[in-house]
Amino acid sequence: MRYWRKPLDADEIEVPRGDIHIVESQCKGCGFCVEYCPRDVLELASGYNLKGYHPAVVVNEAECVNCQLCEIICPEFSIFVRLKNNQPVCATDIDLRKGVDIIES
Ligand code: SF4
Ligand code: SF4
Repeated sequence: MRYWRKPLDADEIEVPRGDIHIVESQCKGCGFCVEYCPRDVLELASGYNLKGYHPAVVVNEAECVNCQLCEIICPEFSIFVRLKNNQPVCATDIDLRKGVDIIES
């Protein structure tokens, strides 16, 4: 995805990254997640899973922004994404993290 201009606070924003999990044996190779992923993170494998389908595989995890669209649209509940390394995603998360740091120190 390209933006026509860079936000003024772009350097201060930490882009959330996703940790992708695919239940290969449950995937039916419909390709919805591959087609609709906005960052082209997924592809269908050339090989087969136990059910005889080409399962989805991660090809570019570094580009995943944890939007969880793949998780929402998968009809087989065979892909899910969790926030990588417990990154904060909003100001509230950052404030809560600071609160924890204060309590622990
Ligand atoms: S969470 Fe979003 S960016 Fe990451 S693989 Fe799923 S659809 Fe693509
Ligand atoms: S949407 Fe689900 S069933 Fe379809 S290819 Fe992706 S992981 Fe497999």
